[in-house]
Amino acid sequence: MERPLIIDKTAADLSLPPHLTDAARAAFSWSAVRAALDGLPGGGLNIAHEAVDRHTRGPLRDRVAFRFVARGTELTYGDLAQATNRFANVLTGLGVERGGRLFILTGRIPELYVALLGSLKAGVVVSPLFSAFGPEPIATRMNLGSASVLVTTPSLYLRKVAGIRGQVPSLRHVLLASEEGFDIADIPDVVDLDDLLDAASDDYTIADTQPEDMALLHFTSGTTGRPKGAVHVHEAVLHHWMTGNYALDLHDDDVFWCTADPGWVTGTSYGVIAPLLHGVTSIVDEGDFDAERWYGILADQRVSVWYTAPTAVRMLMRSGADLARTREFPALRFIASVGEPLNPEAVWWGKEALGLPIHDNWWQTETGGIMIANTPAMPIKPGSMGRALPGIEVAIVRRVDGAVEPVAVDEEGELALRRGWPSMMRGYLGDDDRYRRCFVGDWYLTGDLARRDADGYFWFVSRADDVIKSAGHLIGPFEVESALLQHPAVAEAAVIGVPDDLVGEVVRAFVSLKPGIAPGATLHRDIIAHARKRLGAAVAPKEIDFLPTLPRTRSGKIMRRLLKARALGLPEGDLSTLETASPETGADHDH
Ligand code: ATP
Ligand code: MG
Repeated sequence: MERPLIIDKTAADLSLPPHLTDAARAAFSWSAVRAALDGLPGGGLNIAHEAVDRHTRGPLRDRVAFRFVARGTELTYGDLAQATNRFANVLTGLGVERGGRLFILTGRIPELYVALLGSLKAGVVVSPLFSAFGPEPIATRMNLGSASVLVTTPSLYLRKVAGIRGQVPSLRHVLLASEEGFDIADIPDVVDLDDLLDAASDDYTIADTQPEDMALLHFTSGTTGRPKGAVHVHEAVLHHWMTGNYALDLHDDDVFWCTADPGWVTGTSYGVIAPLLHGVTSIVDEGDFDAERWYGILADQRVSVWYTAPTAVRMLMRSGADLARTREFPALRFIASVGEPLNPEAVWWGKEALGLPIHDNWWQTETGGIMIANTPAMPIKPGSMGRALPGIEVAIVRRVDGAVEPVAVDEEGELALRRGWPSMMRGYLGDDDRYRRCFVGDWYLTGDLARRDADGYFWFVSRADDVIKSAGHLIGPFEVESALLQHPAVAEAAVIGVPDDLVGEVVRAFVSLKPGIAPGATLHRDIIAHARKRLGAAVAPKEIDFLPTLPRTRSGKIMRRLLKARALGLPEGDLSTLETASPETGADHDH
């Protein structure tokens, strides 16, 4: 089906959020954002104070901050303020000092949120890890971050940490959250977190952290190679507030669901901090992806703003529109997505199956928060990441003799950001050189290639590592994958270049099919013919491999480098973030 190139919202729609208009954008200043926040009495700034304690003086005190759907429990802002005070006192009691490093390895249980925010209150640096990691990735990350405290659960500790504890000499304290079926007193060298919390005072004076004090360590997804550890500071809270306002349009009567795990930066910046800053109720789902349950959560919890990822959208698409139509989503008013390019097909699917188009936005672990977005106040051009957010200067550049220069409108180049936004990473753990190499003059270079059109919309082309050079053309996998996804049999597609003597590289595609569709020579021909019609013979894949499922990171990104290594018989490289999931449900066997 041919579709229009733009989803123009009605004038009435556009007048809805006045704070998102071009006039508001032009009036934007970071000092106004700072003024919307409290700050600490001594002039400092602390993420947890702004996210939690700031709200407890007024009516938001009794508002639900987190609702844990599976266990049926809730934490209000008031509960959270007290529990995080207790946690901060526990750290003081253990002698953990400001600047100490605390790692969290749990599922999405209440203790995760309490430990994360409680550490920030104490000025202790936090690094949440995805609980599906195996022992080696856990040890590597804790060593890179000099972990001194670990918060985890008895089962995860016994299965994954006990065996490698000797390899992490900096680790002094292991705090275990209670878990059914385990007696923590029987486990040597650990302490019972809930006992300590019960005994601690709920009165605490937040550490006088300064904007430049280190707050969070986040590891990248490892899509292109070994994951890097990005350092973030308390000043990032300005950016979290700004994006909660302009990119997600969060208000204190919203029910918000961010489907990312806090083990990834999205799950911390938008699964914890930004919604709290705006007084929102967040839904926490402890389970893995399951289409029917997810539709149930959107409907039953009356989610109004939903932030998810292309991989989840593709899985919902794969499960069929009929399933979506079994439920209604009257409360839902805004859907956003991040993590990978969002194919136009997926934007339209949102509109058809859920009644709302999906708004793509772009950022990375290093940026700490959303930088480019389709906001509620702009027409969507499906396939575009949207426009630069207020306070953010984005350029498309080319590198010339150690400097950068802008390229023309509609021309491809590297996506660059003017340095100095509040949540910019302040370093890569243990790799100063690599950090320095990300910057040229005033610009941070993202490693992604993109174009900007005359309306200021950015179009993702590819990661610099993934671009394909064939017979003098530069081909971005996204463009080819989006065309493949328009074929009715295709559920997911990944495209790589394989070396070729004649043309440099040829385009090769890996495709997984929708349920019930069998691969075969006829389908192979049909998909290639479809791609040629859309893209032309030079850009369409020459060859398609059918796979039951595509390899992806635990944060849900297709790992093209692994497909390429396998296709070329090269070493597979760092696989610490590779998801080992069932093709049908995406459920992780490793939980
Ligand atoms: P690594 O840096 O370890 O290879 P990664 O880049 O996947 O992993 P993240 O920081 O989680 O780690 O992901 C950021 C990257 O994800 C971006 O640089 C971009 O390539 C991709 N990305 C994120 N959002 C979008 C989007 N909306 N459109 C296209 N690409 C996106
Ligand atoms: Mg990256």
